[in-house]
Amino acid sequence: MNIHEYQAKEIFRGHGIPVPPGEIATTPEEAAAIAEKFGGMVVVKAQVHAGGRGKAGGVKLAKTPQEAREHASRILGMTIKELPVLKVLVTPAEDIASEAYVGLIVDRGSKRAVFMVSSEGGVDIEEVAATNPDAIRKLEVDPRFGLLPHQAYWLATSLYSDVKQQRAAAKIMGQLYNAFLSSGASLAEINPLITTPEGEVKAIDAKMNIDDNELFRLPEIEALRDESSEDPSEVKAREAGLTFIKLDGNVGCCVNGAGLAMATMDLVKYYGGDPANFLDIGGSSNPEKVVNALRIITSDPNVRVILFNIFGGITRCDDVANGIVTATRRIDIQVPIVIRLTGTNEEAAVRILEEAGFSAMTDMDEAVEKAVQLANGGAA
Ligand code: GDP
Ligand code: MN
Repeated sequence: MNIHEYQAKEIFRGHGIPVPPGEIATTPEEAAAIAEKFGGMVVVKAQVHAGGRGKAGGVKLAKTPQEAREHASRILGMTIKELPVLKVLVTPAEDIASEAYVGLIVDRGSKRAVFMVSSEGGVDIEEVAATNPDAIRKLEVDPRFGLLPHQAYWLATSLYSDVKQQRAAAKIMGQLYNAFLSSGASLAEINPLITTPEGEVKAIDAKMNIDDNELFRLPEIEALRDESSEDPSEVKAREAGLTFIKLDGNVGCCVNGAGLAMATMDLVKYYGGDPANFLDIGGSSNPEKVVNALRIITSDPNVRVILFNIFGGITRCDDVANGIVTATRRIDIQVPIVIRLTGTNEEAAVRILEEAGFSAMTDMDEAVEKAVQLANGGAA
């Protein structure tokens, strides 16, 4: 789950990280009023779950409340990476002497939280990693001990030469580690961590991604979810208890089990196609899930074919077949459906599908190849 900058800043503040104040506006008038209250220059910042916001024109400096109103009016009408901007954060503008990068992610390789820090902040860290990898210092945190003071200090010395600033940054890293850990985050990032001309160190941007698997035990974090900023099909899938991730291709995939879903997507690629989604309908035998799955897949206008790939174990093939028949009666499906099922009650499933006018296959390669052909405009 993604959260907004203003929400991440609230979490950071709760852990003691120095973050400038700020308030949320949903109209240009509110933005002007907040700017007035802060009495001077402010920054108006789009609150949207997309990177590259600054480059897209979603971060603007305003010298007067009137200018804040104008910026807010433009930014509130924008879409960034297909996401509408519904809120802006209005925050006092800081004088910036330097910009650094401080990030913390879960690294699958080392299975640890890893700090990445660089004195080259403000810009895309991916760019720094590609062009000047030596400018990034990394540290894997041992979960048994957490971030030790000398480690935090070692990281901070790569950012600043001033001892006071090194100490301030080391403290912030410890606080960031605590914020990360207690929020179930998979990523926490300060870009930029600035120094002011007076020598203060502050976080003026904040980004956090939360691991969905942590949410059940963190209701106060789950409450930060903003569905207006999420993909509508992913929202529907979550409500229906399906594991769904929207992708850019045109082969709609409806599969039981995450492993088989991955294998199916690999095979779609192998035969020259592109999956429109990852979808695991789970191990249950509930036809209603199939109905919901088809609703979600068919609401994507890119989908040219729907591929069912079911391995019947606990999931009974006849239940899935009934689900497909029920769903296609209830929803007007305009694209061809290719069905492959094998395993528990396979014969009954084939009978149900054939009676309803579908054909079913048992061979996975054959089914995927056919689905890709159909998606690419080939004949059935
Ligand atoms: P992002 O582009 O979405 O990451 O948004 P940021 O909040 O990181 O802002 C992008 C850049 O705008 C920063 O790296 C700064 O250079 C600049 N910026 C943001 N806030 C301020 C501010 O308060 N004062 C000044 N002078 N520049 C700012
Ligand atoms: Mn940033």
